Amino acid sequence: MGGDHIAASGPTPGTEPSVRLADLTWQEFAACVAAGSLTVILPVGATEQHGPHLPLSTDVVLPVAVAEGVARAIGGLVAPAIPYGYKSQPKSGGGNHFPGTLSLDGATLVAVVRDVVNELARHGVRRIVLLDGHMENQWFLTEAADLAQRDQRREGVRDLRIVKLGYWSFIDPATLASLFEGGPFTWELEHAAVMETSVMLHLRPDLVRTDRVPDNPPAAFPHYDVYPFDTRPIPPDGALSSPARAAAAKGARVLDQVVPAIAAALAEAFNSPGDLVSKERQAEETR
Ligand code: ZN
Ligand code: MN
Repeated sequence: MGGDHIAASGPTPGTEPSVRLADLTWQEFAACVAAGSLTVILPVGATEQHGPHLPLSTDVVLPVAVAEGVARAIGGLVAPAIPYGYKSQPKSGGGNHFPGTLSLDGATLVAVVRDVVNELARHGVRRIVLLDGHMENQWFLTEAADLAQRDQRREGVRDLRIVKLGYWSFIDPATLASLFEGGPFTWELEHAAVMETSVMLHLRPDLVRTDRVPDNPPAAFPHYDVYPFDTRPIPPDGALSSPARAAAAKGARVLDQVVPAIAAALAEAFNSPGDLVSKERQAEETR
């Protein structure tokens, strides 16, 4: 698919064509759309503290790497990532008060993602993946997808399909067992901890401060939220559980396992039959 029609427009022989949408010319992009069934993946990240050992870009670097692997596997393209996300929450990202954490209001994030989806749709893309790299984004991506679907139905577009996913959901039990060595974990406390640190050690070891990897016990939060945040349960260094057992090989295994799993899931999601919206709702909205 994508690989083939990009190749047809003539990259240097022997080099793999780029899966980055923004590396293409407008004519190359148009050819990808015209060839049909193009999937475009939009990584949505955050600029957020990740402990004393990982960079603020962690939630961008990880989903972009996953997206590029998936795009190569399925012949798709990766749109430029959105580097800002919804506000860091104490229980999943340490909180928005850490220096360098630059966040968007929910309405802003929804508006940005909705606009990008509508722009892709305007140019004929009908398969769009919102690939989340930051847990706090998830319901805002749902809202953006819903509003863009409504916009497109009003434009008369009936065949736009959007898939939303968090890459961490695809890590299977065997990979989890190897990551955490059989110990307990929760995804919410996996912030700047074993998984993210391992994948960063694999992808960007130059950005990991290996002499500053903390080894703190998992944070313990109450079952309610209070505003303004009570900062006392938040580990002061920003890692919500210990990354001490992180390793580059564990990170490589995560990517090797997750990329084909997401590629397979997309094949299923984009090829499932049927009109997923009731005719009544379509009629009502286009009136
Ligand atoms: Zn993160
Ligand atoms: Mn995050």
